[in-house]
Amino acid sequence: LFITFEGGDGVGKTTQARLLEEWLTDAGRTVVRTREPGGTEVGVLIRDIVLHHRGEVSPRAEALLYAADRAHHIETLVRPALARGEVVIQDRYLDSSVAYQGAGRVLGRDEVRDLSLWAAEGLLPDLTVLLDLDPVAARARLDADDKPFDRLEAEKEHFHARVREEFLALAAAEPQRFLVLDASRPADELAAAVRARVQALLA
Ligand code: C5P
Ligand code: MG
Repeated sequence: LFITFEGGDGVGKTTQARLLEEWLTDAGRTVVRTREPGGTEVGVLIRDIVLHHRGEVSPRAEALLYAADRAHHIETLVRPALARGEVVIQDRYLDSSVAYQGAGRVLGRDEVRDLSLWAAEGLLPDLTVLLDLDPVAARARLDADDKPFDRLEAEKEHFHARVREEFLALAAAEPQRFLVLDASRPADELAAAVRARVQALLA
């Protein structure tokens, strides 16, 4: 079972991924919790480039770096875990690329999706949980926790609005894969909604 969490910065993806991992582990499942970018050793190097040298990397090069991270991650970590019958819970996947590089940086939805699918040899999640939140509210949360909101793009208000709209459009286009949740709800309520959907998939 392959489950991904998606949404903008500060919506609570990591918290929900951790809560789901705890629940599944308690239920006796073997879980691999991972993330993109940076789920492997090679991926950590790529993550450093895309996050800390962001202003220097051209948009197409950036999209290719995310795709390279993804290709390596899926082949060396995710597919082997799925083949062993384990549950993979992943913080961000190809929908993030379509939303951030495709819509945010206007490289185009179809191009970025095709690139991602090529990189991942077509692997799609069984379930994608989209945590939807107004970017202004997400930013206020990160500020309250003293965490950085997207370091470079913070000042460009339209960027995050485009990213959010693209995530919602992706979910609308594939309603059977997506569970869309209002991320302003309390974390325990969100976790319960996620568990209900995952339980149905495991049954
Ligand atoms: O979710 P995480 O904190 O790992 O994301 C790190 C940063 O990378 C975020 O600021 C996010 O906006 C950015 N990102 C991106 N394109 C992606 C994935 C993440 O710009 N495909
Ligand atoms: Mg996170």
